[in-house]
Parts: sequence; C-alpha cells; structure tokens
Amino acid sequence: MKLNVDVLRYLSKDDFRVLTAVEMGMRNHEIVPAELIDRIASLKHGGTYKVLKNLLKHKLLHHDSSKYDGFRLTYLGYDFLAIKTMVNRGVFMAVGRQIGVGKESDIFEVAKEDGTILAIKLHRLGRVSFRAVKSKRDYLQHRTSYSWLYLSRLAAIKEFAFMKALEEHGFPVPNAVDCNRHCVVMSLVQGYPLVQVKQLQNPDMVFERIVGLVVRLAEHGLIHCDFNEFNIMIDDDEKVTMIDFPQMVSVDHRNAQMYFDRDVECVFKFFSKRFNLSFQESPDDIDGSEVDTDESGRPRFSSIEKGPGSLDKELAASGFTKKDQEDMEKYTEGGIETDAGCSDEESEGGGHSSDSEFNGSSIGGVDSLQLQDQEEQTLNCDGEGRVEANQQN
Ligand code: ADP
Ligand code: MG
Repeated sequence: MKLNVDVLRYLSKDDFRVLTAVEMGMRNHEIVPAELIDRIASLKHGGTYKVLKNLLKHKLLHHDSSKYDGFRLTYLGYDFLAIKTMVNRGVFMAVGRQIGVGKESDIFEVAKEDGTILAIKLHRLGRVSFRAVKSKRDYLQHRTSYSWLYLSRLAAIKEFAFMKALEEHGFPVPNAVDCNRHCVVMSLVQGYPLVQVKQLQNPDMVFERIVGLVVRLAEHGLIHCDFNEFNIMIDDDEKVTMIDFPQMVSVDHRNAQMYFDRDVECVFKFFSKRFNLSFQESPDDIDGSEVDTDESGRPRFSSIEKGPGSLDKELAASGFTKKDQEDMEKYTEGGIETDAGCSDEESEGGGHSSDSEFNGSSIGGVDSLQLQDQEEQTLNCDGEGRVEANQQN
C-alpha cells in the first residue's frame, strides 16, 4: 500500500481535528454520523462538512450513506493520525520509502531530524491476504471496523512491549523507539531477511545461534510463534536479529509445546533445504544452553528450564493486559501460520508479496519531504492513541 505522505502537507489543523473526531466516534459507531462528528469536532461556523469532503477526497475517510450520512476512518486516515502524532512528538520528521510488506503490516523508513533512519511498522490486522485462513475470515466477518483498528492497535502495543522487554534482556531485536495507535517505531535493521540469503560463511554457527534463540526465549518464558526465515534478519557479518512479535505467547500457553516445536522445525527445515545442513548428531552446544535434544538434534521443550527472568510474567504486568492477550489470541488462533515460512511451497519468498518491493539493505532513500508540525494540536492524544476531550482554542 502506498502511503502518500504528500497529503499530510496539505492537511490543516481543522482537517486533523475532524479526523480525530471520526476516530473518537468509531468507539461506539461502525459508521460515525456526520452530525456526531460535527459535534465532537465543534469547528466554528459549521466548517466540519467542508473538511469531511476534503478528507474523503484524500481517501482518509470512507463515506457511507446506506443507513444515514456517516463516515469511518480508512487505514490511511489512521496512518495519518499516528504519523502526525509521532511527528508532533519529535520522534521523526519525514516518511520515506516502503521497505517491507508483511501479511498484516507495512514497513516504511522514516528520518529523524538529525538524519538517522528508523523504521515504522503500521499494523493492518484484518487485511485479507491471500494466505488468510478461513477461520480468520470467519472471525473477522463479525467484527466492526473499529475492532480492526482496535486489533491493529493491540498488535502494535504488544509488539512494542515485547520488543522493549526482549531488548532489555539482551536479545538481538530492533531497538523499540515509540508506539502510537497501530504504529511501532524501531531502529532499522541492517541486512536482509534470511529468506533472501543464498550463502553464508558459517551456516553452522548461524544455525546454532538461531536455534539457541528459540531455546533462550523459552527459558525466558516465551515462544515467538512465527520464527522463520522471514522474521530473522542477517547482516553482512552474519549477525542475527529477530523481528515480528505480535503473536508471541507464554510457555504456559496450552499449545506451547506445539508452537515451540513448530518454531524449531521451521529453522531445521530451512537450514536443511537452503544450506544442506544435516542434523544426525545433536549439536553439543545450543548457544550455551543445557537443553536436551532428541535423536535428530531438535531441542526438547520439556527439558527447558524457565530461568529467573520470566518475561511472560513481566509482560503480563506491563500495559499489555490479559484481556488484550485474549482478544489477540482469538484473532490469531487458527490463523497463526502467519509469515508463510516453514511452508512446503517452493517459491523463494513464499507467501510474501514483499520481495518485489524489498530492496535489500540500501538505506537512506528517505524523501526529503518534511512533515511540518503545523500549529499545536487541539485534540490531545495520549500514548496509546486514545483521544481525550477536545478543548477548542
Ligand atoms: P509482518 O508481521 O507483517 O510479517 P514484519 O515485522 O515481519 O511484519 O516485517 C515485514 C518485513 O519488513 C520483514 O520481513 C523485513 O523484511 C522488513 N522489516 C521489518 N522490520 C524491519 C526493521 N526494523 N528494519 C528493516 N527491515 C524491517
Ligand atoms: Mg514477519
């Protein structure tokens, strides 16, 4: 999806005020009545209707007059609210090219004022991908637009919290910078997704490091659940970084063993196919861990001892609540085979539409577009994208 940030330049304070009013209205309305938007935005001289027209023209809103005259946010509208908030906070000041398309996310480069390039991930839960499994579609059929936004926001909050906690415990993950609505800002990972890597100097070492990560995660109480060649990045020094955390679960999850084994299997299968590794013998040392392995060298989930730094408990106590986790699981259950990794499909890049658009590690191509922080915001958004009462000035 193309994010035409040029539009941002032409949007006024009133435009954002009305956009935010629609967002607020969507908490209780699938389609927000135009009158309600007008009331929330409370622009002087009835300016709301003109603004709505403008927002519609830029595809930031969707118009629906089937039951009454009303509007809802489009993903683009939601993107703009998140981006605008980040720009106002000084997190970044320009949005550049798209560097990745996940099955339910879009990744863009952004630039800070000092020229540093970061990455933003815009979550798009509910975007129907060609891999979407039926159960997921059935589940979503009964959801309103707001819950699509809600789920995407949950995914972002969860990803941000997990990334931060993993980083603090020394895991090789991007640096978690900030989060608003469905948008996570993180450091840009150098290198390529493993799926694009055809050759490695030390495949054995990389393999052991990667399997070691799955084990060490479990020792910290967590399972990635989508641990595959699309979510493991490798740089020129063969340093490994893992990404993509919205589907992670605790080792106490009822299907923990299955998820753990599947993550392990993805790695074994990929390395055996791509780098011809064979695993007759148990690796005697999985990244310094004491874990038992079966006859094929695969670590046994049952032998993993949870260490003192139980991240699952720590995270449960953080902003991401049990209910949030349950809401997300309802959505991901059945559809958790997310990244097309570990599949039998022979296509390089499997289910990823990103390959044609992903240009490897070249960075710095950020447009010089500056998203000026126009006038002060008149609607206050807190950290989670919740909008507080408006105060017209
Ligand atoms: P999804 O959950 O939709 O699979 P990912 O987080 O896996 O999204 O991101 C999709 C793709 O975008 C990745 O495979 C990777 O190529 C790229 N990507 C994601 N995050 C970063 C990052 N921090 N730095 C560089 N590339 C990234
Ligand atoms: Mg991914």
